[in-house]
Amino acid sequence: MALGEFELIDRFFRGRGAARSDVPLSVGDDAALIECPPDRQLVAAIDTLVEGAHFPAGSPAASVGHRALAVNLSDLAAMGAEPAWALLALTLPHADERWLEEFSGGLAALADQFRVALVGGDTTRGPLCITLQILGTVERGTALTRRGGAPGEALYVSGTPGDAAAGLQMEVSRLAVPDERVARHLRERFLFPTPRVGLGRRLRGYASACIDVSDGLLGDAGKLARASGCGAQLDYETLPVSPMLVEAVGAERARELALTGGDDYELLFSVPPSRVESLSRDLPAAEWSYTRIGTLRREPGAIVMRNGSVIDFSHYGFDHFGSVR
Ligand code: ADP
Ligand code: MG
Repeated sequence: MALGEFELIDRFFRGRGAARSDVPLSVGDDAALIECPPDRQLVAAIDTLVEGAHFPAGSPAASVGHRALAVNLSDLAAMGAEPAWALLALTLPHADERWLEEFSGGLAALADQFRVALVGGDTTRGPLCITLQILGTVERGTALTRRGGAPGEALYVSGTPGDAAAGLQMEVSRLAVPDERVARHLRERFLFPTPRVGLGRRLRGYASACIDVSDGLLGDAGKLARASGCGAQLDYETLPVSPMLVEAVGAERARELALTGGDDYELLFSVPPSRVESLSRDLPAAEWSYTRIGTLRREPGAIVMRNGSVIDFSHYGFDHFGSVR
């Protein structure tokens, strides 16, 4: 690379993100040293973004940096964990300084916001590919998992799923949205998703199971339900879709995108009937923005009910229906 590897790391990645007192040795040595609190469990996740597969070629670099961290923060949010440290494996076709400036800026802004320190990584040449590993902690024995749900429990989702899928369609010119304000909102939801870290941490003690919605509400409800040894029923009429999404694609398509779109990074969680009241008292839905959308049930699989009958998705022509379990 024209810019030397050492200089590149030094300029764009050393000391990025939050400064943390629990990192006595960071970028620059063979490995980082981290002080891990003895009463907490380490929580680890990793995700890879490949250009052309996980984001459109030519995406704004700041968005690529933001999303590389956001998708990992979302995994920690779904565990009820507190993020703390990240490692970045970056493969670049060439050292484009402007791209690196924007990429590292997007990553660092989100890292600062969630007090995450970038403690190491690897830099190589090749097709654009970003792997980020996140580490965090959770009070011993209190992590949320996908497995704790049971039939009869209420299912909730945060935010308004579907927006990001519409934003992605706009990015690849498959959807045109004339209204400037609506267009900006939907694009931002894809390019700069907000991981629900605060909500995830607060859900410990209320939610019995939790998953982050990255592949569409229906598929991810199926995953949570299956891990919990049951099924899920989603109620079509209750699906929270944003007025912006409805304006852009219409009420029907908005709900299809909410169910199957992906890239939302919202939280989907189950709550036992005995805790529904304390949840709504302690974490008011209006303040934390989540909505009840269904119920866990005994029969396996994830279904959507509309006007008292199960929606037959073959009418919708979803090509990825096969992946919905
Ligand atoms: P080594 O050869 O020992 O693996 P490197 O020369 O690859 O070390 O990296 C030097 C230092 O820079 C290490 O501390 C490594 O963690 C860090 N580093 C390399 N690439 C990145 C990156 N993209 N982001 C953050 N830290 C990085
Ligand atoms: Mg080494």
